[in-house]
Amino acid sequence: MIEIVQGDITKLQVDAIVNAANESLRGGGGVDGAIHRAAGPQLLAECMQHPGCPTGTAVLTLGYRLPARYVIHTVGPVWRGGSFGEAELLRKAYSSVFTIARGHGAIDAIAFPAISTGVYGYPRSDAAAIALDVMRENDANFRRIIACVFDDGTATVYRSILAQEE
Ligand code: ADP
Repeated sequence: MIEIVQGDITKLQVDAIVNAANESLRGGGGVDGAIHRAAGPQLLAECMQHPGCPTGTAVLTLGYRLPARYVIHTVGPVWRGGSFGEAELLRKAYSSVFTIARGHGAIDAIAFPAISTGVYGYPRSDAAAIALDVMRENDANFRRIIACVFDDGTATVYRSILAQEE
């Protein structure tokens, strides 16, 4: 069951929210900044224990002050025109999150932001098609998979892709 929820991912009551982080895992802007602000300084302290997170991979931490118990940080690609393996890397970022979540045992409800579509510049409809495709591949393994969209344009794109699939 893939749900589209429009709003702030830091408010969602799920087992894990996904962070669109950067390779340093030292916090940043956009959804990354919002997650660190809401989780509190202990999140950064835990992230500092990791050497980093190469693009396409993922790292699990606690959620601290978030309603979500866990944060799974992943790093999507920076859009460089589309011929630098961006699609494969974006797919790998989503898949890496699911691999961690499936292996964890206590993550049954998970929410994703639209990875790479903010500062990283990935065209949002292409990114949404990949995001929803990987979510569908993992649908049977989770009680809830939430695509958390922030802006109206991204919400429209996600809704139209899901509507085409019905
Ligand atoms: P990236 O660097 O991977 O592009 P951004 O954080 O810049 O990541 O943007 C990714 C997406 O997250 C964008 O669609 C942006 O609008 C959205 N976003 C920003 N803040 C939040 C939030 N608090 N909750 C959910 N989505 C958010």
